[in-house]
Amino acid sequence: MKGADGSFAGVVVGTMRLAYFRKLFSKADLGRHGSISLFRTDGISLMRVPYDPSQIGLSFAKSSNFQRFVRSPSGTFVGTAIIDGVDRIYSFTHVGDLPLVMNVALAEGDVFAVWRTKSMIIGFSLIVLCVAAAILAQLLRRQLRRTASTEVMLSRSEAQYRLFADHAQDVIVRLDRSLRRTYVSPAVSSMLGYAPEELLGHSFSEMVHPDDWPNVAVLICASQAEGSNTEATYRLRHQGGHHVWIEARYSWVAEDAGFVVVLRDISKRKAAEEQLEGLNAELERVARCDALTGLSNRRHFDEVLDSEWRRAKRDRGTVSLVLIDVDRFKLYNDHYGHQKGDACLRAVASAVAGSVRRPGDLTARYGGEELVIILTSTNESGAAQVAERVRDAIQSLGLPHIGNPACGSVVTASLGCATLNPSDGEEPSALVAQADARLYEAKRTGRNRVVATMPVAAVVSDSSGEVDRLQALASYEEAGVAHPSDSLDRIAQLTAQLLGMPMAFVSLVGREEAALVGRYNVEMDRAPRDAAYCAHTIQGDELLVVPSTLADPRFTYNPLTKAGIGFYAGAPLIDPCNGHKLGALCVVDHQARQPLDEAQRRLLAGLARLVMNDLESRACAATTHTPELDRIQAA
Ligand code: GH3
Ligand code: MG
Ligand code: MG
Repeated sequence: MKGADGSFAGVVVGTMRLAYFRKLFSKADLGRHGSISLFRTDGISLMRVPYDPSQIGLSFAKSSNFQRFVRSPSGTFVGTAIIDGVDRIYSFTHVGDLPLVMNVALAEGDVFAVWRTKSMIIGFSLIVLCVAAAILAQLLRRQLRRTASTEVMLSRSEAQYRLFADHAQDVIVRLDRSLRRTYVSPAVSSMLGYAPEELLGHSFSEMVHPDDWPNVAVLICASQAEGSNTEATYRLRHQGGHHVWIEARYSWVAEDAGFVVVLRDISKRKAAEEQLEGLNAELERVARCDALTGLSNRRHFDEVLDSEWRRAKRDRGTVSLVLIDVDRFKLYNDHYGHQKGDACLRAVASAVAGSVRRPGDLTARYGGEELVIILTSTNESGAAQVAERVRDAIQSLGLPHIGNPACGSVVTASLGCATLNPSDGEEPSALVAQADARLYEAKRTGRNRVVATMPVAAVVSDSSGEVDRLQALASYEEAGVAHPSDSLDRIAQLTAQLLGMPMAFVSLVGREEAALVGRYNVEMDRAPRDAAYCAHTIQGDELLVVPSTLADPRFTYNPLTKAGIGFYAGAPLIDPCNGHKLGALCVVDHQARQPLDEAQRRLLAGLARLVMNDLESRACAATTHTPELDRIQAA
């Protein structure tokens, strides 16, 4: 319908289906407390989701939120819903030219719900992180403090060690695994005269004294092999060429790190030790030395004899002793005075010491004017040779001794030798006693001599048969036939001629002497029993043949040997009545000779029986031709 002016003069009616809006609004995700509303511009509520029919048609014109809707065509603000009092974020807009306002309200709680959860998690995480960070920070601070103090300590101790190394008198050396120096402390300059740098990289061995090196090398190698510490005392070459005694402590660090060595100069200590050793040695020497003669004293002699005795016992060897006594020394003192006597003793002592050549032998002053020699590993014959050398040396001094005319009026000595095998069970005192007995024999038999074997008299006097033997001999003496006779001279001559010898004799061996009762080319008519070869002949059952008296230790120092007898052969005179050996028929030569052959031996033994027959028959004749028997026969 049109007005007069042609304009529309009717009413147009439009309708809206509110159910459409409800459906549309329901599709929107508004959260749990969100809402979407459609208002008329006059404040009447047309639709609201969440849908509540009681809300539809109500006027919200007076609500402050709605008043903000109408104030502007669109906008966003935060407000509190009048309906439910929920805080929401409102977004509104006028719908075109229509008197409609649409509003979307999201509850702040819904909008921020996810954010809150996340922010809570994040916040919690942050708190945890903050706490952890705080703890870490604390720990870090503490660690830093510690590190700082450790560093301070380290630098302090390093400074301290350097101070020690630099100022210690000991030298500190670091050796690598090939024993080359990698560090040498400055003290080396004053100890060995080298600057530390000069020694770096060199082997430690090159300065060790060559004599000490083998020992040191063994120690270091062992220490290196075992990974252990070790100590050594040796000499190091100083830059000046001389050597310095040092004490070294090797501390093993590790296989790849080698050694740390501390070297200490002990030259002064070593010098003091050496001085002390020298002093001790001197004291010991003085303690075992005889002040007058310079030989060992009696105490030292006793010690050495004991130890040599034990050693010989272990080795089943022998010990020999020579006892020396100056002849008629009392008279020497009486005549020349004690001072000269002392000088004489000193001269004799040095003559004795000069005659003993082996280093193991000991010469000592036994006491007074008696000296003694211990001869180790020396047999009887060897001891006798030394003794004779000593005797000769003393005599050869030619010291005048007016009281010793029997020995050329010079100082002489008598000597007794003894040899024993300790493993036979004897004690050292037995050796001294035996030597003493022989010395006594030497005195008894004229002095200025050596008695090296047991005197025959001493041996036989102990044997039970000797008394009977002497008795048997006495019966011949009583019969007056035990003296020189022509018949025995003839037998002696015959013996010498038959055996081609220059001399022969018949001897009867008495207690002290051997009497020569038949002689051919022999001057003497008796000989001391100890010297007589015949005294030895009657000790055995066989002939005694000595091709070389000098080479036979039993006779080497025999006075008759010295008087020029070189060969001896004797057959014992055996009494057929009782088997006693009364003496011997002997042949002798100045020269050593071949031993007798079998025929010669039989001949000599036969001639000895002839001597015995002669003695017997003459003794028998003597006893049967008593003056009384002659008178009876005459009657
Ligand atoms: P024999 O040939 O028998 O050994 O005669 P002897 O005079 O040597 O023997 P005796 O034992 O009677 O004398 C030893 C003397 O040696 C006595 C003593 O005056 C002397 N004598 C001992 N020791 C020393 C000493 O140290 N100095 C001196 N000058 N004489 C001493
Ligand atoms: Mg004496
Ligand atoms: Mg004497």
